[in-house]
Amino acid sequence: MQKMTNPYFLNNGEYQGDVKGDFEVVPFFIADELACPKAKIIQYEPIYLCRLTTLRVMVDHSMPVNSGARTPSYNKLLEGAHYRSLHQTINPVHKNIRTGQALKACANDIGTRGWSIAKIKNFVAKAELLGFSVGIAKTFIHIDGRDLAGLPQHRFYYGSAKAWYENI
Ligand SMILES: [Zn+2]
Repeated sequence: MQKMTNPYFLNNGEYQGDVKGDFEVVPFFIADELACPKAKIIQYEPIYLCRLTTLRVMVDHSMPVNSGARTPSYNKLLEGAHYRSLHQTINPVHKNIRTGQALKACANDIGTRGWSIAKIKNFVAKAELLGFSVGIAKTFIHIDGRDLAGLPQHRFYYGSAKAWYENI
């Protein structure tokens, strides 16, 4: 791999090169929060990032990114992370149905600590409206663009979050 002069390597299809942590990859989201924390690579499906920005505009409040992209090797180190995880910079299983290429990252976990019930429910509604699949936990919401791999939109819950979410 080339020697990096800035901490992150961005590959967005059009541009490939080094960027600083505060580089705005797409409006509202910077390299620090979107990159793989270990490999420092930012490699997402472009359409996914467009939707992420659209969601941010629609909800009109900050969306802290708890989890960004992960290289497959970093993903393997994480307890509970699935080998097909859509957070991966190059998916070992899924392909982009339009290009036929290995699916690039198309998932994030958004931290929801301190959010009101109304804010959480509005976020889920807007995300689903935009076609995101949504995984609901008590302190974060996973969003992904699995439809890019030809998979149907889906909502799921982590642990006991289903009963919690349905009663708030
Ligand atoms: Zn996730």
